[in-house]
Amino acid sequence: MTSGVVPTLCRMCDTRCAINVHFNNGVITEITPFKDHPINRGRMCPRGGAAIDLFYHKDRILKPLKRKPDGTFLEISYEQALDEIAAKMATLKQRYGARSMGVWKGEGLGFYQQEELARRFIHAFGSPNYFSNDSACFNGRYLGYHLVCGYWNAFPEFDQAKLILLFGTNPPMCHPPFMREFADAREHGAKLVVIDPRLNPMACYADVFAQPYPGTDGALGWGLIRYLIQTGNYDSELVKRHSIGFEKIAAYAEKFTPEYVEKQSGIFSQVVEEIAGLIITNRPDISIFPGTGLEHHENGVNSVRTLAILSCLSGAMGRPCGLFQPEPLGGRKLTLYDELPLADQKPIGADKFPVLYDIRKECHTMTAMDYMLGKGEYPLKGLIIASANPAVTNPNIPKVLDALANLELLVVNEFFATPTARLAHYVLPAATFLEREELHYYPKCQMVNITHKVAQIEGIRDEYGIWHDLAHRLGFGRQYFPWKDEAAVNRWILEPTGLTVEKLRQFPQGYVYKPARYQKYLNGKLPTPSGKLEFASPYLAKLGLSEIPEYHPPYHKRKADKKYPFVLTTGARKSLLYHSRNQNIARFRNIHKEAEVEINPEDAARLGIKNDDLVRISSEVGTLEIRATVRHPTELRRGVIEIYHGWEEWPVNLLTYDDINDPISGFPLLKGVPVRIEKD
Ligand code: SF4
Repeated sequence: MTSGVVPTLCRMCDTRCAINVHFNNGVITEITPFKDHPINRGRMCPRGGAAIDLFYHKDRILKPLKRKPDGTFLEISYEQALDEIAAKMATLKQRYGARSMGVWKGEGLGFYQQEELARRFIHAFGSPNYFSNDSACFNGRYLGYHLVCGYWNAFPEFDQAKLILLFGTNPPMCHPPFMREFADAREHGAKLVVIDPRLNPMACYADVFAQPYPGTDGALGWGLIRYLIQTGNYDSELVKRHSIGFEKIAAYAEKFTPEYVEKQSGIFSQVVEEIAGLIITNRPDISIFPGTGLEHHENGVNSVRTLAILSCLSGAMGRPCGLFQPEPLGGRKLTLYDELPLADQKPIGADKFPVLYDIRKECHTMTAMDYMLGKGEYPLKGLIIASANPAVTNPNIPKVLDALANLELLVVNEFFATPTARLAHYVLPAATFLEREELHYYPKCQMVNITHKVAQIEGIRDEYGIWHDLAHRLGFGRQYFPWKDEAAVNRWILEPTGLTVEKLRQFPQGYVYKPARYQKYLNGKLPTPSGKLEFASPYLAKLGLSEIPEYHPPYHKRKADKKYPFVLTTGARKSLLYHSRNQNIARFRNIHKEAEVEINPEDAARLGIKNDDLVRISSEVGTLEIRATVRHPTELRRGVIEIYHGWEEWPVNLLTYDDINDPISGFPLLKGVPVRIEKD
């Protein structure tokens, strides 16, 4: 494109807003929202515009790099890099077996299609070891809903709700375009309840704001379930005909009186009753949305299960604003789990966290560190990381650094010399979303979009090109990567659907592939093992896990160690940053200059801490020096502190545990770490 406007989708985060990319004389000059797309409805956030900064960034890696023995890097050709990587992979396979190799997909390059290609590549190589950032984000919530309903539609039609309950999430930061839906719902009179240890911007706009202790949402969920059951205000038809385990949850819920919930969560009993009253008044048009605030605890999946049950009991099952069950497009799958399941190859973490592997086919990144360090059942010797940055974003950083340094082959596909890329033997330049073609699905509205290359930096290969070229060098390209480029991949995926790439290109506003059918469960089975809603899960019971989502107080409450009297939460988003990305975009860095520990003013005063003081935070895992920001008393509960998670210079994961995990999802404890604070 020389001059003009091209519509596409933004991949600077997982929301995938529709955007227009403006060109002038071959240069991208501006990115503006595309008006007619139902997801962002003509809105976008500042991170979207930063795609230009990313594309033209002066520090972007444009040539493959090979690490020299002195730790510096040498520019080499793609041919040399791919020849050497393929040769090393073949050696590792011969010496230790195929499963000594793994791939790890991050969020930097993309999501669904990138994930499927990475899974396909490593299975075709002969290893089951696919890892991703989903070991610490999203999967916990997916599993929670999946275990109860057999599916999860993450983003319901919020604007159809009469009551929206947000648990541990901050949409203006995480999914800004959905604010239009919230605003529409509010204009129609919908009530809003926000539950978060932090007074986030959404909470300022809520009818009820409740500030629980981190990790106690499950207690509130049970308290609300109890209220609905005891007052008889629940969907009894659904319970009778379409669920199992109701008697068990009804008996367990009994102890969760408002007073008991208050004791556990710190939320006043009157507020618990007020929220329950709002559910009863507004059911069944209720949207319940959990964020990462719930899943980053060792009781995370069970907290999410209680919310899924609450949603079902309130009658929101199958409704547009509730648990709508989307239908798939029906295209071909890129993954090889039917053809080459490789479960007998002992995927890493599948024995420790069988549910995570069983349902998500996801190996466990924290357990992978042990395998890299020679403490696993077999060695993990080689890893290809597609734009993830575990040296910053995984818990227990010293262990991560030791593990990555122990690999015989580390390849990182990246935009920049991140801390993880700097440890690599080879760094391959990454293509931005503007330089790739892929299919995108929006289950919320049963819609599909296609994007295509709207720009290109000469010589940079996209991710598909790298998998393709490695596969052909390793001898399985003709069978598993026969397509010349991603456009050909997309044609192959779409073939059974009757849709074509050309047709989809005519619909930048998205193509609705099937009209929505609500409350499908009334005439069919649910995709759970029993075909019914599983309030109690025989599947989990068989694995020795809790059949009903029992509430257990979080680690910091159980430990109550006077040496570590504060509770650290991390993993919340900032408006301009996205995990460990965007910190090197100068105009964003002017706003988010450095990391900060956010603290309640009463706690700060007691410790003699003022704004901008340097403080030392210590946990059982490690220590971090960081500046303090003293917040307004209502913003954070006393005893709770917060640190953003993506800083290279102030890595909060020096403090977090890799070995305190949710037994169902394997997620690390990121939002309830006992810590001590000292003024330097
Ligand atoms: S929310 Fe922002 S970063 Fe995310 S897709 Fe939309 S415009 Fe891009």
